[in-house]
Amino acid sequence: MKNTIIRATAAESSIRAFVANTTNMVEKARKLHNASPVAIAALGRTMTATSIMGLMLKSEKHKLTVKINGKGPLGSIVVVGNSLGNVKGYVANPQVASEFIIPGKLNVGKLVGKNGEITIIKDLGLKDPYVGTSPLVSGEIAEDFANYFLNSEQQPSAVALGVLVDRDYSIKAAGGFIIQIMPDISEEVLSQLEDRLSNLESITTLMTKGMQEEDILNHVLGHFNPQILDRYEVDFLCDCNKNRFERALISIGRKDLQEIMEEDGGAELVCHFCNKKHYFDKEELQKLIGEIDNNK
Ligand code: ZN
Repeated sequence: MKNTIIRATAAESSIRAFVANTTNMVEKARKLHNASPVAIAALGRTMTATSIMGLMLKSEKHKLTVKINGKGPLGSIVVVGNSLGNVKGYVANPQVASEFIIPGKLNVGKLVGKNGEITIIKDLGLKDPYVGTSPLVSGEIAEDFANYFLNSEQQPSAVALGVLVDRDYSIKAAGGFIIQIMPDISEEVLSQLEDRLSNLESITTLMTKGMQEEDILNHVLGHFNPQILDRYEVDFLCDCNKNRFERALISIGRKDLQEIMEEDGGAELVCHFCNKKHYFDKEELQKLIGEIDNNK
């Protein structure tokens, strides 16, 4: 099964919308991190929003990093996205025990915490990245993104994000939408839209009824003549490689590297994003030390 995001406009381009089905990539992240239900709910919601925000980037080379730190037991959430909508991400404590608001409804907000902020770093190929920060509202993620858009980008947005975990802990459904209004929206359309958004079921409820992305688009924005502009396939992809870890090892310095080589006889580095292990044996470490010496 593929992860799909559609991009659409409605009400003569005064509304823009993205609708995402990310069930598969959230399941992939759950397995990679062996994440508990509440941890994958928080990570999956953040991944879905980051994937959509990646598609909003204007150039192929642009990237963004989303960091959410609410100071709750889950610890920080970090998700990196690119302009193709592909993401990679992790949470600090993926095995955190789940708590529920009511049976079946995970208390994401409590475990993420709300005494912190959401920070979004956009690498737009300039000398300095663009950094936007906004205080967390609830730690429930969707509201926190909506507040970020309003505060940091002056862009009123409706954000819905959901991850439904099955009895066997696999992901039954995951997805979301981001709807943004343009400055030229009429008062009448705006009030109808607000009305519509306040009477919606959760995104995963719609998905478990069998609705596809376009069905959800029509369900939410059907009154406003929505037009689908694009359709994207997105995924959880990690781009880590041994080369990158070589540079990390070199950066710790000759003395420490020598010590690791002599005491441990090798080094194993684990990628935070995908948990892949990269192993360097004694010879390889010796070669890196040689590189440091040669560059002096
Ligand atoms: Zn990796």
